[in-house]
Amino acid sequence: MFKALTQLSRHLSGTCQVCGRWPAQPLCPVCTQRFAPLQPRCTGCAARLDHDHHGLCGTCQTRATPSAVQHCVAAVDYEYPWDSVIARFKFRGEPGWSGPMAELMLGVPQTVALMEQCHVMVPVPLTPARLASRGYNQAWELVKDLRRQSAAAGSVPPPGLADALLRIGDAPDQHSLPREQRMRNLQGVFIVHPAARLSQSRVLLVDDVTTTGSTLQAAAQALLQGGAAVVTALVFARTPPH
Ligand SMILES: [Zn+2]
Ligand SMILES: [Zn+2]
Repeated sequence: MFKALTQLSRHLSGTCQVCGRWPAQPLCPVCTQRFAPLQPRCTGCAARLDHDHHGLCGTCQTRATPSAVQHCVAAVDYEYPWDSVIARFKFRGEPGWSGPMAELMLGVPQTVALMEQCHVMVPVPLTPARLASRGYNQAWELVKDLRRQSAAAGSVPPPGLADALLRIGDAPDQHSLPREQRMRNLQGVFIVHPAARLSQSRVLLVDDVTTTGSTLQAAAQALLQGGAAVVTALVFARTPPH
């Protein structure tokens, strides 16, 4: 993990990228403790829960249809400062953030359990056009760093399959749509690669952010239709409850 941080810090000067403290790694320990505290989250959708709660959040408890994602884990809430870190990670050509982000994800005990329990890690894919213009899939960068850091810590990480899932379309902007419509929009967006052998496997889906969970649901449904036995999900950030 320190290697990843050192590599990144060469590009990002010697200051904490959140508070500006110098000298520091891209994320100083003070900011990590302040903005990425371990907290109880819904096991279904990773939404932050009140401290005296555990298990499923109210939304997950009242789902009309069973979730395609058996268990979802997130490291942080999708808000300051992580929203701007993620914007730099995916929109401003700074893939080196995957190192510090993977480190925060591996700091969540449930992440380690999800990785131990799965057979393969699969990133949520971009469309070929988006991948070509960005030059990298940020979710795959996270998979690679999660595996690298986990191996450096002495574990045997599950293999990663960059192309197990293909994205054949982009949904229109989803934010203003009701949940049902969001799901409809995403139907047919993901397909399993014809050569991917997922039969009876436990798949861990990885993405940088989940907001409504619709993308993870659609990707998980495609994986289940493609033969996966169980799909779990690991994201860096989850939109906090309103
Ligand atoms: Zn800091
Ligand atoms: Zn939930």
